[in-house]
Amino acid sequence: MTLRVALIGKPLRRRHSQVMHDAAFAAAGIDARYELLELEPEAVEGAVNEARGPDWLGLQVTVPYKRLVAGLCDTVEADAAMIGAVNSVARSAAGELVGFNTDAPGFRAGVELAMGRSLADAVVVVAGAGGAAHAVVFACLSAGARRVTIGNRTGSSATELAERFADVGAWSVSAVALDDPAFAAALRSADLAVNATTVGMLEAGVTIEVDHLPPGATVFDLVYAPPETPLLRAARARGLRAANGSEMLIQQAVIAFERWTGVGGMADVMRAAVAPLLADATTHA
Ligand code: NAP
Repeated sequence: MTLRVALIGKPLRRRHSQVMHDAAFAAAGIDARYELLELEPEAVEGAVNEARGPDWLGLQVTVPYKRLVAGLCDTVEADAAMIGAVNSVARSAAGELVGFNTDAPGFRAGVELAMGRSLADAVVVVAGAGGAAHAVVFACLSAGARRVTIGNRTGSSATELAERFADVGAWSVSAVALDDPAFAAALRSADLAVNATTVGMLEAGVTIEVDHLPPGATVFDLVYAPPETPLLRAARARGLRAANGSEMLIQQAVIAFERWTGVGGMADVMRAAVAPLLADATTHA
């Protein structure tokens, strides 16, 4: 029996996850395949229920179905419930579906590699308040970041995000509008500045003025297509540590794969498999 995993979303713009997981299945000697299911909303419930069958390992979920699928799982893990998004589902031996989130641990692993240190005690500034920013802020606070400042174009969304996580971690989280001078001021003492918006992917521009950052800061852009955004170019020109979202993408895939199969340590296999796609500067949305 060939085992199955599927990515559910609409539109499905990329096949990075499929390439990484299929390479890992092959390397681990597991007869399984990763399918891409671009579904209309009314088809999602049926697809999720099908994944309760014995040939399924689980699912991955992308925009716009992360909340919808959370409601269809039998259990949602606490972290995913806090973040408000299920991006992966594992089928238990009993056929129950457990929703979890790999963006937060994937971000943590990717960013700590980029920073060359732990997030514990770090002063962090995050641009964005969408789905990815929820995972980023949760990851920073639960890892013990000292202060997190969220800046978003729509200031009210940043405030809602800060309020959601006010009780996570022992330290402080605050929110401002992206164009508020307080955002630029927060950059001056940041150890880490994160772009968690679509700027740099869907449109040119930058959300973070790198000139405000201290020399030891790291700039992390969740965007990985194109591989070098204007933000990363500016950060490197200033001599700052800078990394795109590719390692986050790989690390979150490693975590999901291990949950489904019990096989860990697939980062090198996945990194090699996805490298040609990541290097392709034309892989825009
Ligand atoms: P989302 O939920 O649609 O949120 C989009 C965010 O971008 C919002 O904060 C939005 O601000 C902001 N934004 C959009 N256009 C803007 C502009 N012109 N100026 C300033 N802010 C703007 O998207 P998401 O799911 O959070 O994804 C965000 C990015 O993270 C995407 O590029 C995605 O590819 C990337 N991502 C990467 C990984 C990875 O593994 N590397 C994982 C997840 C996501 P408003 O609230 O004002 O609209």
